[in-house]
Amino acid sequence: MKIDILNLKEGVTEYFESLGPSELDLLNLDFRLKDKAFVHTTVEKRGNKVKITIDAKFTLILTCSRCLEEFEQDFNTVDEYFVKPGQEELEPEKYLSDEDIFSIFAPAQEIDTTPLVRDSIILSVPMKPLCKEDCKGLCPVCGVNLNKSICEHVGFDKEKDEWRRKLEEIKKKLEKK
Ligand SMILES: [Zn+2]
Ligand SMILES: [Zn+2]
Repeated sequence: MKIDILNLKEGVTEYFESLGPSELDLLNLDFRLKDKAFVHTTVEKRGNKVKITIDAKFTLILTCSRCLEEFEQDFNTVDEYFVKPGQEELEPEKYLSDEDIFSIFAPAQEIDTTPLVRDSIILSVPMKPLCKEDCKGLCPVCGVNLNKSICEHVGFDKEKDEWRRKLEEIKKKLEKK
């Protein structure tokens, strides 16, 4: 959604919108947006200061990093931005306040909030998604989903097995001599 910063009325203006995966450019990623993201944007103008608060509610379809099954997770992100007119100034020595860090500069008269919503969604995706805290994952030997069934390899230790095999080999070689 584009907000006309220049012609904004003084005080608080609210916007409600729902954005789908294609509008948010969230296609072909390793997660999916389920249905649409519901976005409540509050724009507060006080003199030449503009604060934008974006409250987004959405459900993502993620792939569990352990069992590789897809699962859904609900999210609610709230992000604040301070809009400053003009270009970003490069002042490395300048002390940065919270307001500076979260400032977006508006070289044009309008600000597009859609990329901001997109960023919030992408940043909320966990590094290692888990379908549940104690997901048992897949059997390293036969690949069965251990949340759903068990196999004869439960308790199987790959390293130990490797050791046992090596010992057997050595034993056999010694016996041959
Ligand atoms: Zn899982
Ligand atoms: Zn197995």
